[in-house]
Formats: sequence, C-alpha cells, structure tokens
Amino acid sequence: MIPYGRQDISAADVEAVIEVLRSDFLTQGPAVPTFERTVATYSGSDYAVAANSATSALHIACLALGVGPGARVWTSPITFVASANCALYCGADVDFVDIDSRTFNMDVEALAEKLETAARDNRLPNVVIPVHFAGQSCDMEGIDALRKQYGFRVIEDASHAIGGRLGGEPVGSCRWSDVTIFSFHPVKIVTSAEGGMAVTNDRALARRMQLFRSHGITRDPEQMTREADGPWYYQQVALGFNYRITDLQAALGTSQMRRIDDFVARRHALVRRYDEALSGLPLITPWQHPKTYSAFHLYVIRMREASERNRVFRELRDAGVGVNVHYIPVYLQPYYEQLGFSSGYCPEAERCYSEAITLPLFATLTAAQQQHVIESLAAALNR
Ligand SMILES: *Cc1c(COP(=O)(O)O)cnc(C)c1O
Repeated sequence: MIPYGRQDISAADVEAVIEVLRSDFLTQGPAVPTFERTVATYSGSDYAVAANSATSALHIACLALGVGPGARVWTSPITFVASANCALYCGADVDFVDIDSRTFNMDVEALAEKLETAARDNRLPNVVIPVHFAGQSCDMEGIDALRKQYGFRVIEDASHAIGGRLGGEPVGSCRWSDVTIFSFHPVKIVTSAEGGMAVTNDRALARRMQLFRSHGITRDPEQMTREADGPWYYQQVALGFNYRITDLQAALGTSQMRRIDDFVARRHALVRRYDEALSGLPLITPWQHPKTYSAFHLYVIRMREASERNRVFRELRDAGVGVNVHYIPVYLQPYYEQLGFSSGYCPEAERCYSEAITLPLFATLTAAQQQHVIESLAAALNR
C-alpha cells in the first residue's frame, strides 16, 4: 500500500541521532535549544519553545494566553481534533467557524458574521485558532483585522504549514498572530518522530510557555516570588506538565530542517504532476490563493458527490493506494456531540468532508508510484 504520507530519513539524520545517544544528555541538553533556534530563524520569529508534540504546544500556548474555565476558543471544524481539544484541556468552551470550500480554511466572512453576533450577545472569543489546512496559509490579514476590531488573541495551527508562505512572509513569522504552532509528526513536512514547537515574538508569552512545558518550575530569579534559598533552588509558580522533547528528537528535527526547502519543492513538483494529470477528470483539484505558497502537507481532491467519494475511495484502497480523508468535522465526533454539537452546524465543512479524498503526497513518492495513483484514480472514475 502506498501511504498518504511518510518521512524521509537520510544517513545524516541517523548520524545526528546517534551522536546524541553517545553524548552526555539524552534530554534537557543542548540539542533542544539548537532545534528551537533553527526553527525560529527559519520562520522569522524571535522565540521558539519546543514540546513533545504539537498537541502539547497548542495546550501550553492556550495556557500562556490565559485560556481557562469560562474562556471561549474558536477554531476550524476541518482539522485534527487537537486544535479543539487544547481548549477543553484548559476548561474553556470550544466553538467552530465554517470553512471556505475552495481552501478548506476558516472562512473570514463566516468569522466576521459570527463575531458580530457574539459581540451583541457579549460572548466574544478570547482566542481564535485558524488552521492552515494542507499547508496553505489562512487569510491571516483578514483575521488580523478582526483581531484588532474585537480584541481576541490568535494561535495559528501551522501543523501542516512549516515551509509555507503568505505574501512572501514565512508561516511562523507571527506577523498577524500571537503564536504559531508546528508539528513534527512523521507524516508532516519535517519530522522529529514526535514533536512540536510554538514560535512567537512575545518574550513574556515564550517564558510562560516554557514554564507550562516543564511542571511550572522555574530557575529564573525574575520569575520567583522570593529570593533563592541557595544555588539548588527552584520554584514551582504554576501548574505545568512534562511536555519536554528529548535531545534525540531535537537532533533529528534540526537535521531534517536542513532539507526543508527541498522537501517542499519536491512536494510542489508532485503537485504540478497531479494537477496536470487530473485536469481532465470529473473532480476538483486543490485551489491555491495567489498570495500563498503552500507547504503541501496534503493533496486533497473533491468528488462531485459523497456516494462517488465512497466508491472511489474503496477502489483506490483495493488498488493499493493508501488514500485518506481529511478531516471528519471535529464537532461530529461523539465526544463533541455530547457537548451539544450536531450535524448541520457547519454546512460547508460537512459538504467538503463528504466529497474529499487525500491522495498520497510525500517527498520520496516515486514517479512510478504517482503514475499508479493517477491511473487507479482515472480507472475508478471511468467505471
Ligand atoms: C498533526 C496535527 C496536530 C497534532 O500534532 P501532533 O504533533 O501529532 O500532536 C494538530 N493540528 C493539526 C492540524 C495537525 O495536523
């Protein structure tokens, strides 16, 4: 089965991990700050806080922005559950803004309408979490204008989008947001096995995220409530977690970052081939906003009807093509239905979900494999 995504590990990546295994620190050593500096520099942000997953990074970003019981967090329904769960971890309420069916990203007009109603009801969100679906940036300028008008904070879930750009600006520059989150899961653009990172230009926010990443413990006199008892002294000043990434993972991540632009360029070459080969078929290929340069984590096509999607999906799987579907609208998960959500809540999201198929796309996908995907899809559509 050709998977929909997978990692590309080089001999240099293996060497980088082995070097850490032979060093003094397997965790809490120098490889973590090196990884953080590498990603901060690449994304054009001032501070980076690495964590053991993007899920953890989303959680500490919410906590650092003061999300707690009674707070309201809005995100996209077409995302992985972690984009919404992070708010529930903090005891906050979650709500969903429908998507633009061309990009599968949060629809800024839908957001503006929902904000207008929320302002009347005195129920404005504290934090909005747009998700850069498939690696294509949301309309961050539009979201930023609303952020200024209504005074909420913004966390970009860029789990798909490291290596992408908006108007020439790298995703992660945080020009239009408070924090940006990256994931380094093996199916994403670059990997550290498990791992995530929060980048920001706000020093105080970075320090609070560092605190929540490691038990709420600090060794920094500036963050303490009283003078140190001695050189061994540390204080727990908040309730944090153990969300640390290991040096093994960080070294892998740093090594992978050397090839990020090659990975994204390779994805673009594969996308051009898909776009060209699929142009004559009865389906919709992924639309790209002229201002964006996607990292192309995913290549998601849309069928004309849900029944067609299900049949084509089955036939592709039978042909050894490991297609997938991104995503089941989060609020249709039983856990969220039990919170009061039900079908019909975000009609565009539900329609896109019912018609979508994710085709295999990763740096090491060969021309022969891609040809097999294309021919299998054409055959399924001609039946
Ligand atoms: C993968 C992903 C996450 C979670 O990433 P982990 O590193 O696996 O925790 C969060 N949000 C989105 C949109 C993702 O695709």
